[in-house]
Amino acid sequence: MHRACMLLFTSLTLLFTVSLVLLGSIAEPARSQRHGIVVAVSPPGADVGCGILQKGGNAVDAAVAMAFAMAVTYPAAGNIGGGGFMLIYPAGGKPEPVVIDYREKAPLAAHKTMYTKRDSRYSAKAVGVPGTVRGLALAHARFGTLPWKDLVMPAVKLAEEGFVIDAPLAHSLNWVVADSPEFPELRRVFGKSNGAAWKAGDRLVQKDLAQTLRLIAEQGPNGFYQGTVAELLAAEMKRGGGLITLKDLAAYEAKIRRPIHGTYRGYDVYAPPPPSSGGTCLIEMLNVLENFDLRSQGRFSPETLHLMIETMRRAYCDRARYLGDADFVKVPAFLTDKGYARKLAQSIDRNKATRSEDLAKDIPLKGEGDSTTHFSILDGDGMAVANTYTLEHSYGSRIVVKGAGFVLNNEMMDFNWFPGETTREGGIGTEPNQIAPGKRMLSSQTPTIVTKNGQVVLITGSPGSRTIINTVLCMIVNTIDFDMDLQAAVDAPRLHHAWFPDTVRFEGICEYPEAVRRLEAMGHSIHGTRQGDAHSIGLDRKTGKYIGAADHRIDGKVAEF
Ligand code: GLU
Repeated sequence: MHRACMLLFTSLTLLFTVSLVLLGSIAEPARSQRHGIVVAVSPPGADVGCGILQKGGNAVDAAVAMAFAMAVTYPAAGNIGGGGFMLIYPAGGKPEPVVIDYREKAPLAAHKTMYTKRDSRYSAKAVGVPGTVRGLALAHARFGTLPWKDLVMPAVKLAEEGFVIDAPLAHSLNWVVADSPEFPELRRVFGKSNGAAWKAGDRLVQKDLAQTLRLIAEQGPNGFYQGTVAELLAAEMKRGGGLITLKDLAAYEAKIRRPIHGTYRGYDVYAPPPPSSGGTCLIEMLNVLENFDLRSQGRFSPETLHLMIETMRRAYCDRARYLGDADFVKVPAFLTDKGYARKLAQSIDRNKATRSEDLAKDIPLKGEGDSTTHFSILDGDGMAVANTYTLEHSYGSRIVVKGAGFVLNNEMMDFNWFPGETTREGGIGTEPNQIAPGKRMLSSQTPTIVTKNGQVVLITGSPGSRTIINTVLCMIVNTIDFDMDLQAAVDAPRLHHAWFPDTVRFEGICEYPEAVRRLEAMGHSIHGTRQGDAHSIGLDRKTGKYIGAADHRIDGKVAEF
């Protein structure tokens, strides 16, 4: 057996066994929708969202309530101390769909060369100014129908009274407590009070977080960005040598942006614009693939896989060359142009892998964590929300704000830390994503909505750092080119190439040994690793009903009524 295949097989078997033994359950299968449907990694979070829909709230109300609830029930990535992107597609596409950009920002005292090789990714200096609370407030102000307080209080209750944890959360908490010896506040907040290990059925209570959330419920976003909570956050920064001040917090603004819109074989695709690279790269890749008849070649044929890999390679090279916060750098419009994609398609040799370094001779060459979470919502009127938010790494910087009970992100890692250092290992040092005061770091988060004639057909997104965009690409190709039903599209093996490192990650390395052999003969180097979790909602072509699918790679829940 191929060595990488054996490794993947062993780790997948282990993961699966651990899932069955420790987790007790795996992701639920697809179900059909009646009035409203939400899909998320956290079962109690999904229940909060579904409850809001049942009360008559719309998809945005549900998204706001779920995002706050998951800051309590999924602390590895659910957050109020991080940021993200929310794509909102009003029923029928009217008014225009929008993206709420609540990406974190560099503090005002940040500068291009502020990091040395010795700086830790788990430190106060790695924290960006959080955007989540302003972002959720902006989404609510624009589209919400229920009172703000009603949307925050379910989270207050979960934190105040506690909630029963399941096996995956027990496992996650035990892991982070053991892995964070130098973070006493995190160990206090997420450790069991008697020092024992958590197990399924235990109750996690978070009193300080409840107090913070109550202030937000009562005062709106100012309860976070001003007053007690802001002072506690600024004090935490001072203690740890971080840069965020009261001024940074007061100045943070979430933004409404126009999504990147493209078409793919007659479908409309919407995804976030910069400061996420997600929408631009996704549309660029779809435009390239539209030049080929993938369907007749089969989904996991070496021909299809090769074309997808070569497409990814080219788009990720453009990502490094051109993309950054468009409030600071000029992002060329041609990247999402069909004519430009045609030229890229023509540059692909059908029988041979391109060497990544041959694509960008202008970028001098010298030598991303995974915790984010995505949820999808569709309400009974047809309004859809795709939301991805993150702390960057699992439990972010590991810094819990003393007295306020929430985890801070380490999103500054998403900037190009070392100007000029673009490496074969995947370090990027190009200009557009270098640090500047008040600038947003480039993201790969890609909450995406696909429609046909105005009707939503797919809501998707994923965690997974740079792999996110390729996970979404696989979801779209599976659904549109290969007519897979939603659960099959979620389950199918995923593929990733990011220009550098010049290697392919392919989940199907064991299932498709012949294709892997042929790809290696073309000059690709292939490894097998798990990729993302895409909690999605889709329109079932056969029944005409919406169904939800949680991702078996992690736990998850489809909640509907
Ligand atoms: N911080 C990353 C981004 O915004 C996401 C991290 C992850 O998913 O692992 O692209």
